[in-house]
Amino acid sequence: MRRELIKRSQYVEPEMPQGGVKIAVGCFDWRLREAFMAFFQWIIKSDNFVRMNFPGGAKLINDPIANDYVIHEFFASQLIERGDLEGYILDHSGCLAWGGSAVFSEMMEERKFHFNQLRNSRMNLNRSFPGRKLNIHLYYAEFFVENGQGFLRYIEVDTEEVILVVEFTMPQTHITEKIVVGSFSWKTRRAFIDFMSDHLETECFFRLNFREGSKLINDRCGRLLVPYFFDTPIKKCGTREILLLDQSGRPESIHMDGEQEFQFYGEQLLSAKAHLMRGYKDWQVMVNTVYAEICSGYIDYWRVLED
Ligand SMILES: [Zn+2]
Repeated sequence: MRRELIKRSQYVEPEMPQGGVKIAVGCFDWRLREAFMAFFQWIIKSDNFVRMNFPGGAKLINDPIANDYVIHEFFASQLIERGDLEGYILDHSGCLAWGGSAVFSEMMEERKFHFNQLRNSRMNLNRSFPGRKLNIHLYYAEFFVENGQGFLRYIEVDTEEVILVVEFTMPQTHITEKIVVGSFSWKTRRAFIDFMSDHLETECFFRLNFREGSKLINDRCGRLLVPYFFDTPIKKCGTREILLLDQSGRPESIHMDGEQEFQFYGEQLLSAKAHLMRGYKDWQVMVNTVYAEICSGYIDYWRVLED
């Protein structure tokens, strides 16, 4: 295993957010990523939240097979680390994870379906953490066209009231979207988004945030989630490129020196790559592996390669 430096970027660690943890769950659909990020910033009135991108938003929290692991991997660790939880879950119309709007006969039917999904996801989360203070807010984003202009209206599920309407033009579906897998550490979120947009030379990528990046793909149980996260982009949207991004300085590697850390994450990245390439060999998926080494004042991004 060897590495090549791709880029060195300036990095200043952001300040620890005050109070309990805030988690924003939305779909990983790249067409809506910017719009949803803006919505979360607007509703939370801050930049300090953990963004979780699930295919279909609430879908995974309700899935009888994925549910247990998703709740453990994505929510429990945050709760243990940071105290109470304020959750924001957003579903949207025309969601590819559900087969798009075409599977519903009309707008109200689709809306009702998602309202139920969202309410169930809150119930499932509350049930999973008895005795903890969970405050879960539910929203639904609905696309509509008026006088030739597209809009997104955001509805608060509990009051069924429209709380925000924004102009929105649905980008055309491209065939070359990519998938990026990183960790959802709030410390590096901004830095990694900048790196990815730059490195991938496209804005059309699905972003998956796992707690420890490629670890989930290597984990015996986490592996069960691979089809949930990767099947839609690869099999339905024509995605052929995956970027796996792991970072230094996570709890698992706290006692390692720099070289040991690189070996540890490098092996993890290459093993996840092998797993994905085996799983999607019929789709000829290309997998790139990048290791982000966080130093004081900068981040070095390394391409990890087999010998
Ligand atoms: Zn979606």
